Amino acid sequence: MTKRYLSYVLILLLVSPIAFAGEVKLSGEFTQGGLIVGWATPGTSITLDGKRVSQAKAGDFLLGFARRAASTSQLEIQFADGSTERRKLTIKQRSYDIQRIDGLPKRKVTPSAEDLARIKKEIALIYQARQTKVAEPFFTVGFANPVKGRISGVYGSQRILNGQKRRPHYGQDIAAPEGTAIGAASAGVVVFAHPGMFFNGKTVIINHGLGLRSSYIHMNAVRVKAGERVSKGQIIGEVGQTGRTTGPHLHWGLTLNETQLDPALVIIR
Ligand SMILES: [Zn+2]
Repeated sequence: MTKRYLSYVLILLLVSPIAFAGEVKLSGEFTQGGLIVGWATPGTSITLDGKRVSQAKAGDFLLGFARRAASTSQLEIQFADGSTERRKLTIKQRSYDIQRIDGLPKRKVTPSAEDLARIKKEIALIYQARQTKVAEPFFTVGFANPVKGRISGVYGSQRILNGQKRRPHYGQDIAAPEGTAIGAASAGVVVFAHPGMFFNGKTVIINHGLGLRSSYIHMNAVRVKAGERVSKGQIIGEVGQTGRTTGPHLHWGLTLNETQLDPALVIIR
């Protein structure tokens, strides 16, 4: 055995446990509000900053970065053979605008005691819908814009409504004429359909698998029922101005488990 051959064998021995243990693919925007669609050899154990990430049977998984996510994140992937791959992810930091909206009905900014009781009930219904688990990774078909129109509100902006500071805007607003058809942003299962909520108006929530949900609010009409399976682009409702709005538009939200993401960043295929 030549010296050269021996060193080749040694390199192979040193490298092989990592090289053949498993594969990891990540695609998406590594930024605050970003969604990463990942794939790893099935049967791995994945954590992001120490928190368990669920993986579909076929290997797909999702990572999401909050509006104020830290500038680095630690991804750890433990393969079936026990080997571990660690990746330090750099998360781009964003700055958010202040958006002032005036002319909203007083009641929609400072609700009465009676309204607050109703809001509380509606929050409980949404919380319940969030518990519906969808294991199938429907999102692998990709994403589409639910409606075409002028972007009238962006993710993350600090909101000042009738001069009062409110929670940031978690979603994208698309202004379009009342009655414009809204398509599902991706395939999934409808987990919530409501005929009229205090703030949200007519609302639909779709679970795209592994805790990724999109929401459609302020609609004029709801065209789906809870429990229904939908394909990407399937009509789920119409643009309206129900709930707290100043004009007809779709509020499109995207959430991974409890993290609110920026729908504008999802890869449109
Ligand atoms: Zn909105």
